[in-house]
Amino acid sequence: MQRSKNKIRKIKRMNTISQETIDKVKKIPLEQFLPKRHRNGLRYNRYICPLHVDKDPSFTWYKDNNTFKCFGCGENGDVIDFIMKLSNVSFQDAVEFLKKYI
Ligand SMILES: [Zn+2]
Repeated sequence: MQRSKNKIRKIKRMNTISQETIDKVKKIPLEQFLPKRHRNGLRYNRYICPLHVDKDPSFTWYKDNNTFKCFGCGENGDVIDFIMKLSNVSFQDAVEFLKKYI
């Protein structure tokens, strides 16, 4: 039941924002919204997590697919999820914000 509800919500989203825009927005490097880099890796960088009070750099940005995971608070996702969580905004508002960076 919950699953079909989510599907309907997703379809509604598609009607207001084009898939093309979503695809473009997802390619905007997450790094530019993050605080100073702490550790450089070949495939990922580590940062102090902006989503929780973090002492160690637990926030990991994966360069190859532009997604993140925080090993402190457990948050994860793509750049749209990140803006939604950081600014507490809707999917649509996050995409609108990110469009400026395309
Ligand atoms: Zn975190």
